[in-house]
Amino acid sequence: QDSLFEEAYEVIKVLEAHGYEAYLVGGCVRDALLDRPVHDVDIATSAEPARVASLFERVIPTGLQHGTVTVVRHGYTFEVTTFRSEAGYSDYRRPSEVHYIQDLSEDLRRRDYTMNAIAMDRYGQLHDPFHGAADLEHGWIRAVGQAEERYAEDALRMLRGIRFASVLRMRLAKSVWRGIMAKKTLLRHIAMERVCDELWKLTAGPDPAKGWSMLVRSGVLRHTKEPLRIYGREDGPAWLPVYGALGRVDTPEQRLAAVAIGLGATAEAAAQDAKALRLSKAEQDAIVSVLSAFARLEAAAHAYRPAVSSGRAAQGELAPMRLAVAQALLAYGENAVRGALACSRALAEAAAPCAAKREARAGMRAALGQDVSVLPSYQHEGMHVLYEHASAWIDAMPAKSLAQLKLSGKDLLAVTTRQGGPWVRACLEHVWLKTAEGLLLNEAELLLQEAEQWLRAHHGA
Ligand code: ATP
Ligand code: MG
Repeated sequence: QDSLFEEAYEVIKVLEAHGYEAYLVGGCVRDALLDRPVHDVDIATSAEPARVASLFERVIPTGLQHGTVTVVRHGYTFEVTTFRSEAGYSDYRRPSEVHYIQDLSEDLRRRDYTMNAIAMDRYGQLHDPFHGAADLEHGWIRAVGQAEERYAEDALRMLRGIRFASVLRMRLAKSVWRGIMAKKTLLRHIAMERVCDELWKLTAGPDPAKGWSMLVRSGVLRHTKEPLRIYGREDGPAWLPVYGALGRVDTPEQRLAAVAIGLGATAEAAAQDAKALRLSKAEQDAIVSVLSAFARLEAAAHAYRPAVSSGRAAQGELAPMRLAVAQALLAYGENAVRGALACSRALAEAAAPCAAKREARAGMRAALGQDVSVLPSYQHEGMHVLYEHASAWIDAMPAKSLAQLKLSGKDLLAVTTRQGGPWVRACLEHVWLKTAEGLLLNEAELLLQEAEQWLRAHHGA
């Protein structure tokens, strides 16, 4: 971190030695003032891009038309951008005209929030015409100029504001909130990729509940370019446990899955939203498979009937649920099943924060004037039985997937004259389920015996 700044000062020195002004600006100054790790360093200078490029050995012409040259030094990269003013903004996102200028303050004026409009010279002196440092200190996010006007220029700034409030644990100034409420429909002009970037950073951050409650209360996500079936849902009581659950699961994928489960969405709707957001294939799959695994577990949970006599579940009645967990594992993988359990459990905990589970469930029913049948499915009696047992069941399984089985399709083909085909997987799944149910050890010889028995039963000979 220190050497990153040292190196940045070297870049500034070179520019100054040739008669130009140069400063650290934007996120790096903000994060340094907040004592947060700095990941990218932006430098603003009075030198025009071609001049910047000529002064350094290694440069990448990143965004020449916007005035940005990337300078590479000792493995660090610096975005060096010429002071500029912007005009036009006819597409609610990018300025149609950029003018190079000589005045730092004018350059700072085009930036979105006061805390992002602070420049620092290489002696640590701040140039802070909009009092961003004071706003930072007091935890206020304030627009440079009129929020509404700034959002009309570039609608993405609304989402940046909400993201910063959540990630940096700051508050939106009233004027900023009003600006968002007034201009939120302009979000339809913003590319879904940009929306996704902000949503992802907010969701992965330290206080996703705060960010999501602002997103939902403001209703911004109801106005995205492509509709979001789940994430654009209207504010309402179903969101409350969702906020509480967000911080109780770890990855952004699980958090997005928790939102979908909490709102009672289907895997199909989750798939549509993940795609609309342009998430990577891996991220889409991670979210959707959690929803699918949840649906599988939910079906088993709803079929569950507690023992009439004791009130506590007798071991025998758990068997179908244990089988369902195993089948979900087979179909969607360990991560998805553990994720589904974590998400729905987090939701249940968030929905019943204080009292004993049973009491809280009864209380919630009463408070909502609802009947058991309309309780969210993660609150179902059977799901609570799963929260209690399922992790331990999975832990105890000697193989968590077909791949971990000490028997392969090749092994099977070696002991029969049959051609390969769908039967190979069917046989492996049968053997695997036996191990998952604790009826068979994961030992090659035993597995093979079981497989041969299955073959005889299914194919004669
Ligand atoms: P982070 O890098 O943590 O996401 P950042 O504020 O550094 O936050 P960047 O995209 O790196 O965001 O932008 C660097 C600087 O450029 C900002 O601090 C801000 O001064 C300016 N900036 C970025 N995006 C906008 C925008 N949409 N409108 C106005 N100014 C912006
Ligand atoms: Mg940055």
